[in-house]
Amino acid sequence: MVRFVLSLCLAGLVTKASSQGSIDVIHYSFSIEVSDSSDRVKGHAVITAQLPENSTSFYLQLRSRNETGRGMIVQAVQLEGKPIAFTHARDSILITLPFPSKINDTLHFSVDYEGVPEDGLIIARNKFGDRTFFADNWPDRAHHWIPCIDRPIDKASFEFIVTAPAKYSVVSNGTRVQQTDLPGNRKMTHWVESIPLSTKIMVIGIARFAIKTFPDSPAGTPVSAWSYPQDSSRTFQNFSASTSILRFLSNYIGPYPYEKLANVQSKTIFGGMENASAIFYDENLSAATESIEGLLSHEIVHQWFGDMASEKSFAHLWLSEGFATYLTHVYMESKYGAARMKQEMSEDRISVIEFSKTSPQPVVDSISPFRRLLNPNSYQKGGWVLHMLRRQLGDTVFHRIIRRYYATFAGRNADTRDFQVVCEQESGKKLDVFFRQWLYTRGQPRLSVQWTYDEKKRKIQLNISQLQPSVFEFPLDIEIRFRTGRSRVETVQVTGMNQTLSIPSNQRPLKIVLDPRVSLLFEEEAR
Ligand SMILES: [Zn+2]
Repeated sequence: MVRFVLSLCLAGLVTKASSQGSIDVIHYSFSIEVSDSSDRVKGHAVITAQLPENSTSFYLQLRSRNETGRGMIVQAVQLEGKPIAFTHARDSILITLPFPSKINDTLHFSVDYEGVPEDGLIIARNKFGDRTFFADNWPDRAHHWIPCIDRPIDKASFEFIVTAPAKYSVVSNGTRVQQTDLPGNRKMTHWVESIPLSTKIMVIGIARFAIKTFPDSPAGTPVSAWSYPQDSSRTFQNFSASTSILRFLSNYIGPYPYEKLANVQSKTIFGGMENASAIFYDENLSAATESIEGLLSHEIVHQWFGDMASEKSFAHLWLSEGFATYLTHVYMESKYGAARMKQEMSEDRISVIEFSKTSPQPVVDSISPFRRLLNPNSYQKGGWVLHMLRRQLGDTVFHRIIRRYYATFAGRNADTRDFQVVCEQESGKKLDVFFRQWLYTRGQPRLSVQWTYDEKKRKIQLNISQLQPSVFEFPLDIEIRFRTGRSRVETVQVTGMNQTLSIPSNQRPLKIVLDPRVSLLFEEEAR
C-alpha cells in the first residue's frame, strides 16, 4: 500500500497463530448482510479446510465483542451441517472436533456471527456525507469482520455474497457472478475469486458508485473505475492512466493474473491499498487535481508482488513494498526517461539515510510491530536493493530475475532467501555478501574520500574510508572532471574500511564526483 494516514487503529491487536492444528484453509464463502438502519453486520462463513492428522481442535481468528459493544458474537459453529462445540474468547474461536481428523481430511465448517465491526470493515460517511462500507484488512485486520486465518501465508480462494440496500453497488475481488434484487428494497451481489489470496487483500466495497469501464483494456483484462458519483469526472480521468500502466507491467513482469482490474475510490486508511483486482484508493487522492500516476503504478505493481507472489511473513515486507516502490520508478523511467530514475533514487536515498539515523533495524525485520514496518526500510531501501542489483548485474539479468522470481512464486509465498536463490541462479554469482549487508545489516556506507594528484607519476591518489561500524563491499563509480570540460568515470571495487588506490591521469582533475549515475546507497561525509 501507499502510506498515508499513519494513525492505524492497531493498538491491542495480536496475531494469533492457530496453535492447535495449524489448519490450511482451501476456500472461504462469506455471506455478509449490511443495512442502513445500524452498523450491525450479519455474517455466515463456510470454511473449507484441511487439518493435520489427529487434530482434535483448531483456532479461527475473529474479533471478540469488547466493552464498547464493538466486535463479533458467534452464534453457531457447524461441521458438515451439524452443530459442534466451540468457545469464542480473546479474538479466537476454538473449535473442538467430535473426532480426531484423519490424514488429508477436507472439512467444511460454518460460522454464524454478528456484530458491529470495530475495524477491518469501515462503515462511515464519505467526504460527501454518503454512507459507505469498505473493507480495509492490512495487515491482519480481516478478522475484525470475517472469521479466518489472518496471516499472509494461508492463501485461499473465496467468495463474497453480499446483501445490502438496493441503492448501493458492491465491488470485490474476482468476478461478479450474480446480482439479484431482493424483497425489502435490498440486493444480493455475489463475487467469486478463484485465485487463492491472503486475507490482507480480500475486500468488499459497498457504496453509491458511478462505474466506468475503460475502452483500451490491455490483453482482455477489463479495467474499470468505481467513483463516488459526485467525483466521477475527476476520478475517471485520474484512474484512466491505469490501462497504460497495466500494459507496461504485464509486458515487463508477466501476464496480469486476475480476472479484472477495478480502481475504487474508498475510505481506506492508506493512500492506496492493493487489494487484488479491486484496488482501493483514498477518497481524496482518487479525485486529486495533481497526477496520481505514481500511486496507481505502485498499487498495480502490487498485483504481481505482494498479492500474487507474497511475503511469507511481514518480516519480509520489502518483497512487497520495495518491489512496488522500485518497479514504479522503472515504469516512470520507461515513460519519462533515465533522468527521472536518478531523481527518484536520489530522493529515496535521502529518506533511507534519514530513517537509518532513528532505526536500529535492518530491512528484514522480525522485531518491529507490523505497522512500524510501513517505513523507508521496507519501501525506499527495499527499492534501493533492487536498484543496486540492477546496476551491478545489468539490466538484462535484472529483468530476468524479476520475471523468474514472479513466475516461480506466483500464487505462493516467498522470503528473502527465496529471492536470493533466484538472483544467484539468474546471475550465476554468489550474493551472500550483497544480501547480508543490504538486507540483514542496518545502515549503509558512510564514505570519506580524499584525493591528491601526483604530477610526476601522472596519477590520482584516492583514499576511501568507510566510517560506519561494519564494513560494506561494493563497486563505486568515480567521475573525474577536468578543466577542459571533459570527464570520465572509473569504477573501483571497495572492500575494506580504508583503501588507497591510484588512477592514471595525464591531467590534474578539477573535481572528483562520487556515484554520478546514482547507483549506490551511501552517505558522503562532507569534505
Ligand atoms: Zn505498497
